[in-house]
Amino acid sequence: MSDTVLVLNSGSSSLKYQLVQPETGTSLAHGIVERIGEESSSATLTLGNNEIRRDGRIADHETALRTAFDLFAEAGQNLDDLGLVAVGHRVVHGGQDLYRPTVVDDAVIAKLEELSPLAPLHNPPAVLGIEVARRVLPDLPHIAVFDTAFFHDLPAAAATYAMDRELASRWKIRRYGFHGTSHQYVSQQAAAFLGAPLESLNQIVLHLGNGASVSAIAGGRPVDTSMGLTPMEGLVMGTRSGDIDPGVLVYLWRTAGMGVEEIETMLNRHAGMYGLGGEIDFRVVHQRIESGDEAAQLAYDVYIHRLRKYIGAYLAVLGHTDVVTFTAGVGENDAQVRRDALTGLAPLGIELDEHLNESPARGARLISADKSPTTVLVIPTNEELAIARACLAVL
Ligand code: AMP
Repeated sequence: MSDTVLVLNSGSSSLKYQLVQPETGTSLAHGIVERIGEESSSATLTLGNNEIRRDGRIADHETALRTAFDLFAEAGQNLDDLGLVAVGHRVVHGGQDLYRPTVVDDAVIAKLEELSPLAPLHNPPAVLGIEVARRVLPDLPHIAVFDTAFFHDLPAAAATYAMDRELASRWKIRRYGFHGTSHQYVSQQAAAFLGAPLESLNQIVLHLGNGASVSAIAGGRPVDTSMGLTPMEGLVMGTRSGDIDPGVLVYLWRTAGMGVEEIETMLNRHAGMYGLGGEIDFRVVHQRIESGDEAAQLAYDVYIHRLRKYIGAYLAVLGHTDVVTFTAGVGENDAQVRRDALTGLAPLGIELDEHLNESPARGARLISADKSPTTVLVIPTNEELAIARACLAVL
């Protein structure tokens, strides 16, 4: 039996889990517990062709993890037979000091708690997930893998905000970048797909999911990325604004009388595609546009405009790019977004093959025209596999 890693991604009211065999890249099972703490909680497990679901209140994260294990038992799968060697935890923010995959002990937990003010929406639930999992699985090593890690050595010019240096240093304000596990994995996969050494390629990776970010990567090292101190900066996202004039926040506070919590909620949950058009799912956005919904059209136009701006900016940062890769829910599935993002860029060396782009194929694939100097790819991201591999590397 090949080594297996349990990968956990713990959110404020959800717990995603997946069993991965890093050496073969096989996912044995995955599931999610949602609406933890509410009456309408649900837990699902997919194991081979077997899909199991349980509905009803799941009070807290510990019960959520135990429920997931119950589902395995219900599916007839004994976890002891799986060769579990570690639990890998996705942690959004590692701050300045935590960036290598880190075996969790009490000192690491304390450090993560210290970091919570930097990522108040993301790190506390991750810490909770780690603590719960350590209680439930005390005999396994627990390894934290950070979303910020890949961008730890971002060049200073890209990592630094143009603000008072002392203030920034005192409050650890810099551009950290997020989705790093995905950007790193996808850029490595792109090189492997092309059979080219990673060191030889300039790449732009477009991670377009509910959260969305772009990175510019030269020879395997990131030179810029669109998210900053928090995952709010950059592209238009499902519910997050992305780039916004900081003056808007001051104005809302001073003139509209909004409080800090209200502004944060607005920027994180009520902005982006949702704020503009009331919908985050691009399949629905397209339908609404078809039926003449002007708000959906504007949301889409703003989304595409911002995306194109970043592509242009990162072309300039890199000088040229060999590869542009689309990944995550929207990037992997939405041919229209890919087309609208790249239309008219032939003078910059980027040309799609319409037919390949529209193909319903899944998996890693090439979608650029033969004559396009820049190769355009679609590569499914797999953060769980990347986390599991990182765990194995630590062990
Ligand atoms: P992610 O955060 O990577 O899971 O991406 C989730 C988002 O991907 C959803 O909110 C949708 O907007 C988008 N998505 C998923 N499937 C499709 C599809 N077939 N076509 C267009 N967009 C999709």
